Amino acid sequence: MNEFGYSGILKRRVLVVDDEEINRDMLGNILKDQYEVDFAENGKQAHEMLHARMTRYSLVLLDLLMPEMDGFELLGLIRTEEVTSNIPVIVMTSEKPAEVRSIKQGADDFITKPYDMPEVILARCERIIQLYEDKSIIRSAEKDELTDLYTREFFHEYIRQIDRNCSDLSMDAIVLNIEHFHMLNEMFGRQMGDNVLRKVAGMLSDMLADGVGIGCRPDSDYFYYYIEHRDSYDEVFATLSKELSGISKIPGVRIRLGVYQNVDKDISIEDRFDHAKYACDRIRGDYNRQIFFYNREENEKDLYHEQLINDIDAAIANKDLVVFYQPKYGIQCDEPELRSAEALIRWRHPKYGMISPGDFIPLFESNGLIQKLDHFVWEEAALQIRKWKDEFGCTIPVSVNVSRVDIYDSELENRLLKILKDNSLDAKDLMLEITESAYADDARGLTAVVESLQGRGFKIEMDDFGSGYSSLNMLTEIPIDVLKMDMKFIRNMNKDAKSHKLVELVIEIADYLGVPVVAEGVEDKNQVDQLKDMGCELIQGYYFSKPVPPEEFDKFIRAEIEKGKNTK
Ligand code: C2E
Ligand code: CA
Ligand code: CA
Repeated sequence: MNEFGYSGILKRRVLVVDDEEINRDMLGNILKDQYEVDFAENGKQAHEMLHARMTRYSLVLLDLLMPEMDGFELLGLIRTEEVTSNIPVIVMTSEKPAEVRSIKQGADDFITKPYDMPEVILARCERIIQLYEDKSIIRSAEKDELTDLYTREFFHEYIRQIDRNCSDLSMDAIVLNIEHFHMLNEMFGRQMGDNVLRKVAGMLSDMLADGVGIGCRPDSDYFYYYIEHRDSYDEVFATLSKELSGISKIPGVRIRLGVYQNVDKDISIEDRFDHAKYACDRIRGDYNRQIFFYNREENEKDLYHEQLINDIDAAIANKDLVVFYQPKYGIQCDEPELRSAEALIRWRHPKYGMISPGDFIPLFESNGLIQKLDHFVWEEAALQIRKWKDEFGCTIPVSVNVSRVDIYDSELENRLLKILKDNSLDAKDLMLEITESAYADDARGLTAVVESLQGRGFKIEMDDFGSGYSSLNMLTEIPIDVLKMDMKFIRNMNKDAKSHKLVELVIEIADYLGVPVVAEGVEDKNQVDQLKDMGCELIQGYYFSKPVPPEEFDKFIRAEIEKGKNTK
């Protein structure tokens, strides 16, 4: 105990209400070591003091028979008025019937007159104060004061109870968020914000009240609900939106719902709500969708993509990204001849193993990261061309893929020229593949870029030709050096006469334009023979080789050199 008489904590304040001075003195003496004591002579004065003070009273000791306003009346007020309803009251009386009546009216205890021993009085006061304080701590920890929903901790506890007691019920986890809540707060004031929160909580609780369920507000404008499964949330949502638009003058308070239906009860409660929150956040700012259902596969795919995006820099630094080369062979001679190669990226991911470009190229195209990757490939390819030149004394031109974003990068040409210079290469050593669909976007803009590159000596290949974007008319206007026929032509070429004819047609178009055709995706001898007859110049496909690491590509070069020696 210290000088305050209450181990380390400031003294609690007690109000003694009695019209007789002697009683006030006696009680004051008993209490003064333990408490800060104030006095009132009647109910009216006490009532004023209870409302006037900034500090809360921890206890009221109340006489019943007093002038002006008696104890019963004051007790009634204390219990009904919000600021005082949580203050404990001990009534002081000398007769049994009054005891009973005051307890019924909400007194917490009583002290009989004449007064007991001081120790007994102090013990009673202390016990009641303690009881009230414990209760309010529990209450404040259990419930969110603003909305009266449970706090996270208790929410989880109650969910465990629901799972235990209703183990055969299917449950849904729901996360609701108010769109742009912070703006609402700023524009209309916190109080309006609070009203909206209270309203949302109230409506949801009412609406979901017919089944098993429980709600919580873990974060300012997020609401979590764990409720019995329902197939549709359209009605809940519609009612909610409608009522919400009616409650305030705020126009268009919008809410979003993320729903994880039929939760897997084997996963943690946190995970269940992470799933629902994830669904909720996916449609943030989306004016067309306001309810979103969690879907495991989609979620996993998103996470996978997120991971890949995070890993790209490390992948480049750690050489997890590598460039493979697929040979292109000329077939219009007695024996196929190695002419060039295409550089194709591969990712040896430390966690996922070898990932195919189909998994990450479209992803990186959609967020612009593809540029980083392309630059890396161009540089690697240039180094490789240089290496082959030095090692074998011959040039294997390598085509690299150029994405849409690269084309409209004003630094494209300079970057490519620098790469050539750094490796002492010629522009025709590094060929550029641009997909047909890029031409369709902005033919004129692209033509300017391509012409400029051609002016520098670069050879431009139109990739995936025939995949359905360009018109024949456009083709005649666009400058290209090589036409790469889309793989699907080859895949279908022997299905029927029409498909066969289409391949011939593509080759004729290229012939008309005066450029060679590369047939991609050629897998068997039969296809090679037919393409040769049709006049196709070059073939890239599994028939010759899959894309391989550079060390493995060496053997194609060696074989070519051997062939050359033998024919000499
Ligand atoms: P693409 O540029 O049309 O590349 C040709 C794709 O066809 C490659 O797939 C290649 O492995 C595959 N292929 C070649 N011959 C055959 C065959 O006979 N049969 C079959 N079934 N497939 C064959 P890959 O390496 O998976 O690349 C897929 C796509 O990813 C590429 O299509 C390209 O659009 C993109 N890509 C690959 N590497 C890069 C790169 O470094 N940068 C950019 N921007 N895109 C790249
Ligand atoms: Ca390509
Ligand atoms: Ca292609």
